[in-house]
Amino acid sequence: MNIAENLQKVREQIAGAAQAAGRRSEEIVLVGASKMNDAAACRAAIAAGIDALGENRVQEMLEKLEQGAYEGAPLHFIGHLQRNKVRQVVGRVALIQSVGSLALLEEIDRRAAQLGIVQRILLEVNIGEEPSKSGFASGELFAGAERALELPHVEVQGLMAIPPEAETPHGNLHYFQKVARLYVDIGRDLYDNRFVYLSMGMSGDFRDAIAAGANMVRVGSAIFGARKYV
Ligand SMILES: *Cc1c(COP(=O)(O)O)cnc(C)c1O
Repeated sequence: MNIAENLQKVREQIAGAAQAAGRRSEEIVLVGASKMNDAAACRAAIAAGIDALGENRVQEMLEKLEQGAYEGAPLHFIGHLQRNKVRQVVGRVALIQSVGSLALLEEIDRRAAQLGIVQRILLEVNIGEEPSKSGFASGELFAGAERALELPHVEVQGLMAIPPEAETPHGNLHYFQKVARLYVDIGRDLYDNRFVYLSMGMSGDFRDAIAAGANMVRVGSAIFGARKYV
């Protein structure tokens, strides 16, 4: 496993997908999903020029922060965040991508107020309406985005989605297109076109996500190799 080579290959695929969609590859932010990969792997990805790293478990992130795993790149939180762990994340990451409920949104605002900061976030949409997944249902998303406008210590910079496991090649393209429509509509109607990031696409489907309009992709195994679950 060579992280620099893998990263290079992913960049080339991103460039191809961007070009096919008539966009510039520099518009696409590559976030390395580094869960279950150690600090050395994170540093290797940063040395190879990854744009940001994303973690999805609070404990693992805190341990790797202590080890200086993320020095030189912005850190994002991309996993399911429990309200009782909000204080361990707010202020420590550049972007919380996975804000999927009003309760979580309000808790983040409260904690950011205590710290005297504005926490940048994305709203997560449960686009496949899967009961097992977190995120706002599409029908609740406008209300969530509206509520966030009243909270002075959060800044919504866009949307994030994890569609269902695809059963056929390109099986998630229609989900990506749905999220892209929500991104455009909410960004225009509520946020004066100030949205910046549409985060969708992982190792298996980031090209389709880019085709649908993603400008931030979260790629794990294609960069770090398959995760070994023990
Ligand atoms: C692990 C993870 C990814 C990347 O998954 P791969 O299939 O390994 O690319 C993306 N987003 C989130 C939220 C993740 O937890």
